[in-house]
Amino acid sequence: MPNILPIITYPDRRLKLRSKNVTEFDKKLHTFLDDMFETMIQTNGIGLAAIQVNKPLNILIICLPNDDEEGTQEHANTLEIINPTITHSEGTIVYQEGCLSVPKFYEDVERFETINITYQDRDGKACTLEAHELLSIAIQHEIDHLLGKLFIDKLSYGRRKKFEKEYKRMQKEKKAAKE
Ligand SMILES: [Zn+2]
Repeated sequence: MPNILPIITYPDRRLKLRSKNVTEFDKKLHTFLDDMFETMIQTNGIGLAAIQVNKPLNILIICLPNDDEEGTQEHANTLEIINPTITHSEGTIVYQEGCLSVPKFYEDVERFETINITYQDRDGKACTLEAHELLSIAIQHEIDHLLGKLFIDKLSYGRRKKFEKEYKRMQKEKKAAKE
């Protein structure tokens, strides 16, 4: 059975680490990828980067929900992207993003509408992918994690201030709930 791994949240400084390339495509990696999937599903995420579960490796997974009523997420439809590089980017798109490492905060972020990437799969096979819209956004969001960046780092000064204010308020509420 896969394990659910603890997720690191802002302002933990480990989220600022730059992840390193994966070199061993072994059983240990496969187990870790399965644990990442389980963790993402249990926390209602559509994407997860390895650093969010305290492993600074260039690994991300994405699973967009199916277009049905339940929005089912299938393991078989999960993209496992290892050692990615963006080779081409085009257009712009704005989307309201959230992040498992920045709980309960959502804000509009501008990204490329289309990206092309090269990456490796769980067996180390070289792959390419052209992604549009939500898939493209999700991949860019996760690649930012691998570079030590969060989506709140991309906000304008005013919106960042709004985040800081909301974050402080949430911390106070958490403290009050404990007392
Ligand atoms: Zn995130």
